[in-house]
Amino acid sequence: MRLLCDEAIERYAHDHATEPSAVFAALREATYAEAQSPQMQVGRVEGALLRLLVSLTRAERVLEVGTFTGYSALAMAEGLPEHGRLVTCDVDASVVAIAKRFWAQSPHGEKIDARLGDALETIDTLGDATFDLAFVDADKARYVQYFEAILPRLRPGGLFVADNTLWSGRVLAPESTDDHGIHAFNELVARDPRVETVLLTVRDGVTLVRKR
Ligand code: SAH
Ligand code: CA
Repeated sequence: MRLLCDEAIERYAHDHATEPSAVFAALREATYAEAQSPQMQVGRVEGALLRLLVSLTRAERVLEVGTFTGYSALAMAEGLPEHGRLVTCDVDASVVAIAKRFWAQSPHGEKIDARLGDALETIDTLGDATFDLAFVDADKARYVQYFEAILPRLRPGGLFVADNTLWSGRVLAPESTDDHGIHAFNELVARDPRVETVLLTVRDGVTLVRKR
């Protein structure tokens, strides 16, 4: 991921988001020590944004695609009320094992239900479960499929959040650089009458899509 904003500005924004609880610093350290591609972790600014989105929308049921080492899941779990629940999916058992170590150190970890396996297959097993908010951060080539699979499960007024929607700027030239279909996803959600959309230039692009 290439920084889209000036590095000093990114640093300044980082230093002016609420400092997360201590477990996040430890999780960040373990992720950089033990996992491949640790920079995939959402980090402080986006973690704070996700936590705020969950609490501002008063979400009680959250779905996440792309657990990795669990930073975004725990940030969102902190924004949930005590009875709130978050289902998160990942295909990689080794990163989810790291996530569970750190969730266990937080009183909010109990809200998280981790499912191992392909996200589309997992979503299919959810019966008639509905969600107030979904955060999609895996498998970029399938963003359109995740959107179509999740939209019917979102309550009206619910929020679909997609990460990395600027894809280091490659969405500007999707024919000449491999943007993994992110541009096509951006086009879809910008024009789809079922939703209202804004693409925030936070970090690598965070798109907020509200179901009408
Ligand atoms: N939100 C995480 C980062 C996610 S990185 C954080 O803040 O830390 C993307 C994750 O998606 C990786 O862990 C990868 O294993 C997972 N992934 C890739 N393909 C997937 C699929 N088809 N279904 C579920 N998870 C998938
Ligand atoms: Ca991401």
